[in-house]
Amino acid sequence: MNPLETYLSRLCDDLLGFEPDGAIEPLARVSGAREDHMALAVCTADGEVTAAGSEHAFPIQSISKAVAYAAAIDRHGKDHVVSEVDEEPTGEEFNAISIDKRTSRPKNPLVNIGAIRVHAMLGTDRAERTALLRRTLDAAAGRELELHEETLREELAGADRNRALAYMLRAAGSMGDDAEEVVAGYLEGCAVLATVRDLAVVAGTFAHAGVNPVTGERVFTALAARQAMSVMMTCGMYDNAGDWVSDVGLPAKSGVGGGIIAALPTRFGVAAYSPQLDAHGNSVRGVRAFERMTEDFGWHVMEGPHVPDLAERAAELIGDVR
Ligand code: GLU
Repeated sequence: MNPLETYLSRLCDDLLGFEPDGAIEPLARVSGAREDHMALAVCTADGEVTAAGSEHAFPIQSISKAVAYAAAIDRHGKDHVVSEVDEEPTGEEFNAISIDKRTSRPKNPLVNIGAIRVHAMLGTDRAERTALLRRTLDAAAGRELELHEETLREELAGADRNRALAYMLRAAGSMGDDAEEVVAGYLEGCAVLATVRDLAVVAGTFAHAGVNPVTGERVFTALAARQAMSVMMTCGMYDNAGDWVSDVGLPAKSGVGGGIIAALPTRFGVAAYSPQLDAHGNSVRGVRAFERMTEDFGWHVMEGPHVPDLAERAAELIGDVR
């Protein structure tokens, strides 16, 4: 076991020893989420992936929003996309009616209303939109990711709020597409299954300026990756984005399936999974894991470019100094 794997595996064990004050989303149970699921993975810019803990594949949920946003930028150009969806943190819940009163635009692409608008930009009909999203997710993860049909069925059965948001977009004149079709496609992206290993590669693709570090495939332009990470920095952690920037300091996106991805541009992507969620919808143990890793490795972007070599620092931390 290399030192980083030992470090990650000890951190998983430590976190499993603490009882999170939070609950698993009923929907996550459908795909088999359990209290004792905890996993961490890192993918460096040279394509090395180190993972520890559970290998359970869980629905990526809102993590798909960051990928859809980058794909929309590559399809339409940044100027067009930001002329349709703002880039401002909302401080509100993920499914709030966050439409700017003056511009009639959704406030950012990582809350549901903005993500639904962005999803509509991925093509001219449901098939085209979901094909582009699924293709991009697969390319960013470096393998074909499975759709969890049962999760999608449950999502569709409980989608009144998302439908309402889509109709609000139509009423505000911000979207002309069929609301039902757009919501169904958006929810398909949420119901895709991935392991932390897959998600570390997705995060590594953002960190590596849009090139998947494992496969070498260019998935996004450097500009789309930069823009997605910019919005992840300010809006990626629901209404806890401010605390996250202060305590962890990495562009990130979480999902209510219990996953979190984060990227240190030019260096690596990281993913965490544990399904119990806090009041904001973020994984309790996942947030703790990132707080610990940032502290231990000095990952906070405001600390400057002095992040140590991961394996060397991990060896120090686990007391394996040779
Ligand atoms: N399927 C969820 C919804 O749109 C995604 C929520 C999330 O991960 O934030 O309601």
